[in-house]
Amino acid sequence: SDHNLTYPISPAHMDWSSYYPAFVTTPEENQAHPQSDTDVALGRVRQLKKDVEVADIGCGFGGLLVAMAPVLPDTLLLGMEIRTQVTEYVQERIKALRAQNPDTGVYQNIGCLRANAMKFLPNFFKKHQLSKIFFCFPDPHFKARKHKARIVSTTLNSEYAYVLRPGGIVYTITDVEDLHNWMVSHFDAHPSFERVSEDEQEADECVKIMRVETEEGKKVERNKGQKFVALFRRLEDPPW
Ligand code: SAM
Repeated sequence: SDHNLTYPISPAHMDWSSYYPAFVTTPEENQAHPQSDTDVALGRVRQLKKDVEVADIGCGFGGLLVAMAPVLPDTLLLGMEIRTQVTEYVQERIKALRAQNPDTGVYQNIGCLRANAMKFLPNFFKKHQLSKIFFCFPDPHFKARKHKARIVSTTLNSEYAYVLRPGGIVYTITDVEDLHNWMVSHFDAHPSFERVSEDEQEADECVKIMRVETEEGKKVERNKGQKFVALFRRLEDPPW
């Protein structure tokens, strides 16, 4: 249940400094860039040098984040996970990786937050803030009466379109063919998205990582299961 979930009332109210301490601005930088009204109202000075740009929805044990960290060293990546203990595991994992790599700065760009991504996404991210959203092996919710619990739906796709910038990419992978077809049909039907061609998909290095580095992807590999991949591009909004 969500009763003990905390979330900011707006993206401006979210303080990311404890998630990405290496990206907190220096006092000199803060002097150069005056605080926003919200920062002043909240009595806050610490700000990040950049915004989170990549979200891994239902990140599980963090395999994708950890593998992507050195590939996108200048980009802030966030895993969102609803299970408390799993979130804490990933947070500890990141802390340990940072401690083991003190000089390189690698793994400073990944963080994990406990959240119900089906409910509070626009509380965390501004319009068009994200460049990539990952859905790796989302829970399939097989029974028809459970389909409304699926993380891809007509309504939720509009939220994903809101937080994703035009040209940004939604990445999906699952071993459940029925869920794959469901995700494809819902993104295809949405006016803000178009399917990315197979050539472009296979040339994308994030796709390779998604196939082999997530914990769920490894499990499917061991069981010699199939993996269904689909990518969708966020289109420009039509002129009014
Ligand atoms: N992406 C990981 C991987 O590929 O190894 C984990 C896949 S696991 C099958 C699905 C994950 O999504 C679980 O860890 C679950 O707790 C999480 N999850 C389910 N619903 C969620 C929600 N509404 N918000 C955030 N996480 C959610």
